[in-house]
Amino acid sequence: MRDDNCIFCKIANGEIPSKTIYEDEKFRVILDLGPAAKGHSLILPKSHYKNLFELPDETASEVLVLAKKLGAQLKDKLNCDGLNVLQNNGEVAGQTVFHFHMHLIPRYTDDNQKISWIPGEPSQEELEAVKQQIIG
Ligand code: 5GP
Ligand code: ZN
Repeated sequence: MRDDNCIFCKIANGEIPSKTIYEDEKFRVILDLGPAAKGHSLILPKSHYKNLFELPDETASEVLVLAKKLGAQLKDKLNCDGLNVLQNNGEVAGQTVFHFHMHLIPRYTDDNQKISWIPGEPSQEELEAVKQQIIG
């Protein structure tokens, strides 16, 4: 399962060099070329899945276990003060490379980065309507 036009397929399978911090049969974890902070890493499955919706359940479970393991290693080795684990699906959500990847972003007290959104102020009724729309 690969896409010949996909840069992350090529990186994950070692056809394009990368700063690899972890590799096994199914995954490669690399340093992001445009890091939000020191140690910003990407978990890449070696198979091509466009996004979370295409990811098989088993792979999805393995990704989070890997995020936990590599996150702990980043914390231990880089001495970061926190960690953002995030993953974008679709252009509107900020996805720019359409091969599933999970970001691991070590955070430092003085890193001056912001990963944020503007909080809404819905009423209880509005929240209830959304709840019903989702579960209904
Ligand atoms: P997205 O916006 O799709 O969630 O994240 C894509 C990420 O991939 C960005 O943080 C970007 O810096 C990183 N990126 C894009 N192209 C390359 C590349 O060729 N090599 C590496 N190591 N990172 C890349
Ligand atoms: Zn791919």
